[in-house]
Amino acid sequence: MSRAVRFLVLSILAAGILAAQTYDLVINNGRVLDPATNLDAVRSVGIRSGKIAAVSPTPLTGTRTIDARGLVVAPGFIDLHSHGQTLENYRFKARDGVTTALEMEVGANPIDAWYQERQGRSPIHFGATSGDIPSRIAVMHDSGTFLPLDKAVERAATAAEQQQIRARIRRGLSQGALGIGLGIAYIPHMSRGEVLELFKIAAAEKATLFVHMRNGGPVEPGVVDSVREMISDATATKASVHIVHITSMGLRQTQECLTMIEEARGRGLDITTEAYPYTAGMTNLGSAIFDEGWQGRQGGITFGDLQWALTGERLTAESFARYRKQGGYVAIHAIPENIVQLAVGHPLVMIASDGILNEGKGHPRAAGTFARVLGRYVREQHALSLMDAVRKMTMMPADRLRMPNKGRLAVGADADITVFDEARVTDRATFENPAQYSEGIPYVVVNGIPVVERGELVRAANPGKAVRR
Ligand SMILES: [Zn+2]
Repeated sequence: MSRAVRFLVLSILAAGILAAQTYDLVINNGRVLDPATNLDAVRSVGIRSGKIAAVSPTPLTGTRTIDARGLVVAPGFIDLHSHGQTLENYRFKARDGVTTALEMEVGANPIDAWYQERQGRSPIHFGATSGDIPSRIAVMHDSGTFLPLDKAVERAATAAEQQQIRARIRRGLSQGALGIGLGIAYIPHMSRGEVLELFKIAAAEKATLFVHMRNGGPVEPGVVDSVREMISDATATKASVHIVHITSMGLRQTQECLTMIEEARGRGLDITTEAYPYTAGMTNLGSAIFDEGWQGRQGGITFGDLQWALTGERLTAESFARYRKQGGYVAIHAIPENIVQLAVGHPLVMIASDGILNEGKGHPRAAGTFARVLGRYVREQHALSLMDAVRKMTMMPADRLRMPNKGRLAVGADADITVFDEARVTDRATFENPAQYSEGIPYVVVNGIPVVERGELVRAANPGKAVRR
């Protein structure tokens, strides 16, 4: 080899090595939190091809650089209960630090079509369970588009209809759905046997059930009976189950429910739960939740504790009757603040929003859940540590999904990263005006691509991927 050729070869080799050492994006000098290892130290993060490729004690160089000095660098937040699966909602989620938003309680069906609609069009990762409710609405020709409103509510499914519903749920699982979604309270005639059948499918398919339980509140058969149904079906089948929004079901008995779940876990059952950081729930006023006796089932509330989402007005007996016929979202102010604090701070409870916005109307949890936990419950109330809060928003939901590459800030993990200012992070969404972005979250990175930069949405960026089982 001539000297010139040797020089050329060496130059090409050196360039190759340099290219391999350069990162697509680096996040330098932030306070990195990794809930899996409890790392809490100033580090620089190097990202290459959508993965975390380096976590270094010294600054790195890359094609793009984010200076995170004075900011917290955490795994992107994962929302296991995100009904809002539109661009409008994904943007509010991104501004709240969420990099993965999943529709697990109601779910979707058919699954392939649901994923196709969102492919390449979402700033954040999206996914859904194979839902009992959408399957039932289709099979029973219910007029509801999200929650069942008539035919699936008024009578039980026949044996033939039940078989069709289960076939649809199984098909959804075979197409990669993230589990089975089930909302028993919305299907008042769903028998215990029918629920058990879904547990059997979940066990056979090694899928997790995400369940809005049969009943909430103190009036028997209330929340304790409902947690028992979950524990007994999980015991009988060995299926995994995730109980959604424990505070709006448990109300003042939330601690009792958490103790039951803890004891069941202690006996080897795979039962988990979640809560949102608000003292009100929200659902459709036209649904079975407001059948006769709702006041007692909600722990003894009345018309004035209901707030019509479209106008923000509190209801009366008269407006309740009128709006119930019309149908639409209503906030239910029924959860005591000390119960929210208890659940948000409890080591067993994940953070999940249960949120949906429709043209700016809805519950503030759709836009503010994650910032609210960090601002109100960590910084102001000291209900939990910053690391525990991050764990409940990242590693715990990732583990529930059995996705070890998510919810971590470590080499090899997916480059979904949220950068926030611990001193400033706060929710701004209210019941009167829920469509307000959270603040104090300057950078959100999805699959290595910033979707929030200097506190603003990067509107052209759609790096969100379909999350499938
Ligand atoms: Zn629910």
